[in-house]
Amino acid sequence: MQFSTDAQSKPVLIIGAGPTGLCLALWLNRLGITFRIIDQASGPGTTSRAIICHARTLEMYQSLGIAEDMISHGSKLQNVTIAQQGQIRGSLKFGNIGAGLSPFPFILSLPQDIHERVLLYHLQRAGVTIERSTTLESLKQHDDGVTARVCGPHSDHENISASYVAGCDGARSTVRKSCGIKFEGGTYEQKFFVSDVNATGHIPTGDVNIFASGRNFCIAIPLPGEKRYRVLGLVPEGVEDGDLEFSDVQPAVEDNTRLGITAVNWFSTYSVHHRVASQFRDRNVFLLGDAAHVHSPVGGQGMNTGLGDAANLAWKLASCLKGTTDPKILDTYHQERAAFATELVNSTDRIFTLVQARSLLGTIARSFMLPYVLPIAFKLPWIPTFAFKKNSQIQISYPQSDLSTGNGAGCRLPWVETGESDNYKSLEDSRWVMHVYGEASDEVATLASESCIPLHRYAWSDHVSKAGLVRDSVYLVRPDGYVGYLGTDPGELGDYLKRWTVPEQR
Ligand SMILES: Cc1cc2nc3c(=O)[nH]c(=O)nc-3n(C[C@H](O)[C@H](O)[C@H](O)COP(=O)(O)OP(=O)(O)OC[C@H]3O[C@@H](n4cnc5c(N)ncnc54)[C@H](O)[C@@H]3O)c2cc1C
Repeated sequence: MQFSTDAQSKPVLIIGAGPTGLCLALWLNRLGITFRIIDQASGPGTTSRAIICHARTLEMYQSLGIAEDMISHGSKLQNVTIAQQGQIRGSLKFGNIGAGLSPFPFILSLPQDIHERVLLYHLQRAGVTIERSTTLESLKQHDDGVTARVCGPHSDHENISASYVAGCDGARSTVRKSCGIKFEGGTYEQKFFVSDVNATGHIPTGDVNIFASGRNFCIAIPLPGEKRYRVLGLVPEGVEDGDLEFSDVQPAVEDNTRLGITAVNWFSTYSVHHRVASQFRDRNVFLLGDAAHVHSPVGGQGMNTGLGDAANLAWKLASCLKGTTDPKILDTYHQERAAFATELVNSTDRIFTLVQARSLLGTIARSFMLPYVLPIAFKLPWIPTFAFKKNSQIQISYPQSDLSTGNGAGCRLPWVETGESDNYKSLEDSRWVMHVYGEASDEVATLASESCIPLHRYAWSDHVSKAGLVRDSVYLVRPDGYVGYLGTDPGELGDYLKRWTVPEQR
């Protein structure tokens, strides 16, 4: 057995090249930080898993310059139909339901394997190599960093030293276990199945078709190609646990969807967990994505939340490594992301528990609320907007963070169109920027210039006011698009700038 030391050590070591690790790699590369990224698998994922990409993710991808490419590989979700006993009960129209709220006012449908390939393509273009068939075995933390023991493709062991380790290694995270971090929560009793099939027969023409019945529910999504569908749902009651096959769920699928299955291309069952790591940071080690939080598929939040973790951590790590901020900034990663993950797990848990319950309440939810009440409610103009705000992750806010100063700070910068462009154009450099909507005082302009932070001034208008922006206030916007300081007091702004944004030596 060969044994080598850290001849190729880099400031950051990323464990795991799923969507979270790949996205973190893109951010670090963009911010000029070198890193190594390893994955135990020999190649990228090949199954679709997460199929929803939300607006907030696309907004962050816009800063990485890859949003348009992502969109070109997917399709905008237009409608969801809900059927019962072979009859369409209602249809939910999606399309541009978030118009006026985001430059990406829709839900992008994009299978996870394709999503990962787009991320990989951009990393490859940047000259980044994923070290495949390389498994993290253990971690040791010391005063000035971390040493990771990994096993390579030829059973060769290596000790890799890094200032920081990012654990993006999924729900069974070795990083998390090596740090002894608890992963509290539980596992839902009911099992789920997911399958790609060929089928005959007619189903509704929605982008997503939900078939609800008192006993269970099933979802069918048309796939590219003739009569191909992804079907997923609850493993029916009475089906024995163990090595399930598609034939075990086929009668329920055919009964619900009225499809005749002619071929099964892929079938898998899985348990759904709801857990959040007790700490997202242990000294120089961080947990991101499924390594830090897992929850039910309600709202398609899982992968998007991991991508948000990556955007949150990357610029903080980069600022610390460049010495341009107070190192305490790293504490805010746990403060911000653990708070959001906990809230998300709790809210998705409430809905999921109801929809999958065998109780009378669950039966009512599936057989009445879903097919009859939801389609009517969705016709009220404020419901789709409310649903978009909630699901798209544009409402994530960090008011309790040490990085948020001023009334309203911590929110994502509200998006607004400004003439032929929009106020997000200025975020494309992934650096701190200052915005003022209305009049900027001379003191503010001087502070911006002394801190080497670009100041963008926008004319005040009804349109700007409607977007929720505050007249003449300073919006000091972080590199991930969240508002760090919001207010009008130059003294307070000056203190904030001194602590968190030391100008970079060029
Ligand atoms: C059947 C199914 C359906 C799903 N549907 C949805 C959905 O509709 N919407 C949604 O948002 N989410 C869904 N998810 C969840 C979504 O797939 C995950 O949230 C997402 O993959 C998390 O990304 P990640 O990068 O954090 O972790 P992962 O995708 O798990 O990637 C972790 C990576 O780390 C690597 N790794 C693990 N251990 C080590 C080690 N010791 N050393 C080196 N590398 C290691 C793995 O090989 C893997 O590549 C679904 C998941 C499944 C299984």
